[in-house]
Amino acid sequence: MESAEPGCSERDNIPGRDGEFLGAVDNTVHNEIRGTVFNCETFSLHNGPGIRTTLFLKGCPLRCLWCANPESWSMEAEVSYNRELCIPECHECEKVAGSGLLERDREGKIVIPPAAPRSDPALIAAARACPARALSVEGYTISVDEAAKLLCRDRPFFEESGGGVTLSGGEPLLQPEFSAALLGRLKTEGIHTALDTCGDAAPEVYREVSSLADLILFDFKAAHSGLHRECTGQSNERILVNLEQTAAERPEQLRVRIPFIPGLNGTEGELSAMARVLKGLGISRAELLPYHRLGIHKYRQQGKEYTLGSVEIPGSEILKTAVRICRDLGVELHIQH
Ligand code: SF4
Repeated sequence: MESAEPGCSERDNIPGRDGEFLGAVDNTVHNEIRGTVFNCETFSLHNGPGIRTTLFLKGCPLRCLWCANPESWSMEAEVSYNRELCIPECHECEKVAGSGLLERDREGKIVIPPAAPRSDPALIAAARACPARALSVEGYTISVDEAAKLLCRDRPFFEESGGGVTLSGGEPLLQPEFSAALLGRLKTEGIHTALDTCGDAAPEVYREVSSLADLILFDFKAAHSGLHRECTGQSNERILVNLEQTAAERPEQLRVRIPFIPGLNGTEGELSAMARVLKGLGISRAELLPYHRLGIHKYRQQGKEYTLGSVEIPGSEILKTAVRICRDLGVELHIQH
């Protein structure tokens, strides 16, 4: 397994939990396994049983059109920009970035030219200098020890609620060495772990890392490979292999989750095909995650295009129909709100 290449600078300030400042990390120490992450969310209720702390890893092989975490796609640290927070009288970022990298709009607020790479070191340095957090850096590196220490702070909540830690992303399997080491470390700490995965990884990597998690939250997005490629940019070939492997070897640890996207996989034909795949693997229940637009502002802040703006949020009747279609084929869907 390969380790992740740190995408951050020599010294990163770690926004520990939910943006809370944790301290400084010395990235010049290379004799330990490090991962690149972009968020650590406490009191998470939808990523496994009980109260959970979810660590979000950077890097994803897919580009799901509905993705709520576009800041997770790249393995590298990247700059986001919230124009509302920019102070026109301020020049701190320009002092660091030098001339030519940043522009100003008519109201005197900063503009990042579309052609400027968001992972440009000069832009990242400029973001770190921004006092208003209008510019911010998405992504920082953290060692297994540091991550375990951070996550173990929530142990009382885990013990009280039957919760634990979930590794999400992005795709944790893109950083297999870090994910495996962290899952193993949390196991020795007696903390329940869940792996939230799209399943798009080499089967041997998938098996090695996922076997260390107590629970596998497996996102199943489409049964037809053509539709899967249209929605995510990749075929579902490896995903189906890994889903089959888990259903056969560790069915009690598998929880399948289906994002429901009207007009894409939210059609009778595709839902039926997905239900048949699940039934054929002996899986008789799954969670349905209705389409939402909670991450749409991040696209704007990251200079990315969101193409599903005209897709309607599914109402209860549409969701009930989806449940009925799958139930008729032997798969019970539980809608996650
Ligand atoms: S440092 Fe931040 S607040 Fe100041 S001009 Fe740059 S983006 Fe705006």
